[in-house]
Amino acid sequence: MSRTKSLNHYHDCDTITYNRLNLYINLGLSALNNFTFKLECQCDRTDARVGQFHTPHGVVHTPRFMPVGTLANVKTVTPAQLKDCKAEMVLANTYHLHLQPGEDIVSEAGGLHKFMNWDGPILTDSGGFQVFSLSEIRSISEEGVQFRSPRDGNMINLTPEKSIQIQNQLGADVIMAFDECAPYPATYEAVKLAGQRTTRWLERCTKAHDRKNDQALFGIVQGGVYLDLRQQSARELIEFDLPGYAIGGVSVGEPPELIEKIVKAITPLLPVDKPRYLMGVGTYKEMAQAVAAGIDLFDCVIPTRFARHSVALVRGERWNLKNQKFKRDFTPIDNECGCYACQNFSRAYVSHLVRSQEILGYTLLSIHNITELIRFTQQMRQAIIDNQFVERFGHYLTEPSSFTEEIQP
Ligand SMILES: [Zn+2]
Repeated sequence: MSRTKSLNHYHDCDTITYNRLNLYINLGLSALNNFTFKLECQCDRTDARVGQFHTPHGVVHTPRFMPVGTLANVKTVTPAQLKDCKAEMVLANTYHLHLQPGEDIVSEAGGLHKFMNWDGPILTDSGGFQVFSLSEIRSISEEGVQFRSPRDGNMINLTPEKSIQIQNQLGADVIMAFDECAPYPATYEAVKLAGQRTTRWLERCTKAHDRKNDQALFGIVQGGVYLDLRQQSARELIEFDLPGYAIGGVSVGEPPELIEKIVKAITPLLPVDKPRYLMGVGTYKEMAQAVAAGIDLFDCVIPTRFARHSVALVRGERWNLKNQKFKRDFTPIDNECGCYACQNFSRAYVSHLVRSQEILGYTLLSIHNITELIRFTQQMRQAIIDNQFVERFGHYLTEPSSFTEEIQP
């Protein structure tokens, strides 16, 4: 019986206080004082789990979707609106903030929380993914990565130490290790070397990390689509006894079934008493499959990027509001949604706004889409608590994606 499976009899997490207390004692107090992951209960047929990730800026109730605020803002949405969407933790991107406005200005402002006026938990990525996917790379060496700034053309060196120093200055609650992201597809040998280097870079990241008390450094499992390399990477990372772990390098162009295979194989290897974060994934089916494997946290640009393309996410489907059929549709985007957009505006109005390229259209769709994906993870959380996860989400685990375009409402 695995460690996780042995927790099954603690399922009824809202009523059995004694058992919950025991869980806290057994599992919740091993991390740094400022960062604890309290496992509340677990599905008895999958590895899906419910937890609380405590950070210096509040608690994240997992499983949870995290909106992405690349440049210290979630595009077109204010922090107050984000709170209404039930966002708990938001992301910001180290790479983008380093280029503009620079970590010195954020630090002078009092750190990211003050600068962007978000008092909840924040996570920054390391910049690795962006450097490897967006930049004109000059060279990759053991020291780090040299690339040309897309803003002014200047050469920039990003090393593990530099990434951590920038993230220390930005001041997010969770910071990410600087990793080498192999592209997809890549040869076994190339991915193997990138994985080994990621582990060596993690060691340098931990040494460079100056704010261990108020910033939790998460390691990132790499290894591409090769399961043995993923397993090796996970085993090496766990040796560092970090306050949290991420699975990275997925959703980079590989088929979705490979993501599921990786997540299923690797998640159970990660410590049960630490948060587990699947980077860059935010589609319904992939999140449900990952939750079933024991993943706690997700992030993706989908809700805001789709909004800017006039697309609403509605219970597993995506609707383009520019479609002719919405022109005279005076019902809300989603009748059952309690978000500000659905409570106050019609499809016809949003359709008019996005046809006219009015910013409010993108704001309303972003508010709805963020609410929708957070609600999806909240519903999974509730289903696990009710011991109904397989009944309510099992179809995502067995059937092909129901994510279709242009479905008639
Ligand atoms: Zn809505």
